[in-house]
Amino acid sequence: MRDVVTAGQLRELFQGVLLAPDDAEFDTVRRIWNGMIDRKPALIARCRSAADVSAAIRYARGAELDVSVRCGGHNVAGTSVTDGGVMIDLSLMRSVNVDVDARVAEADGGCLLRDVDIATTEHGLCCPAGVFSYTGLGGLALGGGYGWRCRKWGLTCDHIIGAEVVLADGTIVQTSETENPDLLWALRGGGGNFGVVTKFRLALRPVGRLVLRTGLYAGDNVAIALRAYRDATATISDDFHLLGGLRHARPGDEIPEELADRPVLDMLAIYSADDETSAQQARELFDRMPEGVAGESVLSYLELQTMTDESSPDGRRYYTKSGYVTELPDEAIDRLIDSAAKNPSRTGSIDIEFLLGQVSRADGESSAFPQRHAPFMVSAYGSWDAPEMDDTGKYWARGCISTLQEWEHPGGYVNYISLDDDPAGAEATYGSAIYTRLTEVKRRYDPDNLFRGTRAVRPADGSSR
Ligand SMILES: Cc1cc2nc3c(=O)[nH]c(=O)nc-3n(C[C@H](O)[C@H](O)[C@H](O)COP(=O)(O)OP(=O)(O)OC[C@H]3O[C@@H](n4cnc5c(N)ncnc54)[C@H](O)[C@@H]3O)c2cc1C
Repeated sequence: MRDVVTAGQLRELFQGVLLAPDDAEFDTVRRIWNGMIDRKPALIARCRSAADVSAAIRYARGAELDVSVRCGGHNVAGTSVTDGGVMIDLSLMRSVNVDVDARVAEADGGCLLRDVDIATTEHGLCCPAGVFSYTGLGGLALGGGYGWRCRKWGLTCDHIIGAEVVLADGTIVQTSETENPDLLWALRGGGGNFGVVTKFRLALRPVGRLVLRTGLYAGDNVAIALRAYRDATATISDDFHLLGGLRHARPGDEIPEELADRPVLDMLAIYSADDETSAQQARELFDRMPEGVAGESVLSYLELQTMTDESSPDGRRYYTKSGYVTELPDEAIDRLIDSAAKNPSRTGSIDIEFLLGQVSRADGESSAFPQRHAPFMVSAYGSWDAPEMDDTGKYWARGCISTLQEWEHPGGYVNYISLDDDPAGAEATYGSAIYTRLTEVKRRYDPDNLFRGTRAVRPADGSSR
């Protein structure tokens, strides 16, 4: 291990901002998106460079403190903040450089998705990523990264072509297809288990204007619309992305008053404005849909990426339970509608997302991302303000997914795992072949298990921490 540093040496070496619990900014910076998480680190190291990250790690190791890494702070389980440890906060590191000819972006490890989108779309390019622009690139890309364009282009992690990484002993290394390629493989889906990524090198895709078609359905039409959606997934092209969200009606929804107490369905269909096959498939789908409130607009990629930003404000209490399913028979659809009706908080939703497409074309050789062949992901998003709601809210979200057990697809998505949601652990999430390989990479790069993400990968034959 490289030399550890003392608190005094850290203060001298560190170019960023060090915050102790009695500093004025401490409370604001330790807070993350999920208001249910209320942890107090011993120190927050707001880094400005890889050298700062290295110094903070070497200090934590010398002081025998746990380490957590924060990028966008959006992990629902709150893994970016730890009680009594050192929080390595990357949120001051948000530069993005774009090499337009090579179609590659170099993005700092603290970037939010919006930083990458703003820098790349200016050149007609994008790195496909998640659907909320305030989500951190770090956690999202390292765990996978589903989004509006993943069926067309693949996951965000599939676009990581290299990285600068600060390892658990404080050394700064590069990874690419030719340099430490095992580390690159693990960063593509293995979560934040292997080191702190201070720079991502991301492959970019050309992006033009996109069509968003929407439908809002109420009452008995919810089940009819969900069945039409499910049936359409058998033939849609990779360019076509579909998502259905079951939720309680809100003021302003144009639905008959007598149906306002029953769940409604928001259908979203997104495809390239210049793709005639997708346009035809959208027409066919919406022609089969029951009566509802339809919408159609043409958006830039940046508009698409920010259109749902307001729906999940910082500081509310959130709990997510998500699962892959192999199919959505009518019985499963009915159970989901029933679950949506029982949502005690009346906010949040149950999202049903059709996956496959390009996501399913990569394999375990190119990345550690495990669940490429699951057709659907169903996610129950609970949110509320009152702490007294925590138990009923969690119970609802878990119950919603457990009603789908008959159609469960094995494994899970590491980025949608909530606090105390650990029935099976990392091996079940990744499957034994990928998990075994991850433990070998872990043994090489983090043998003492300093970095522990939502699904902690333990080093093979190593630390039991
Ligand atoms: C509102 C919202 C919308 C979302 N939408 C999507 C979506 O569309 N698609 C999708 O796939 N997921 C989505 N997610 C889930 C998201 O991918 C995870 O919550 C992810 O962990 C968020 O990344 P972050 O950097 O903000 O998290 P943080 O909480 O900052 O970090 C989470 C963990 O990631 C690791 N980490 C983060 N940055 C680094 C780094 N630079 N180096 C090493 N480790 C790092 C650390 O282990 C850290 O504990 C969404 C989450 C929220 C809250």
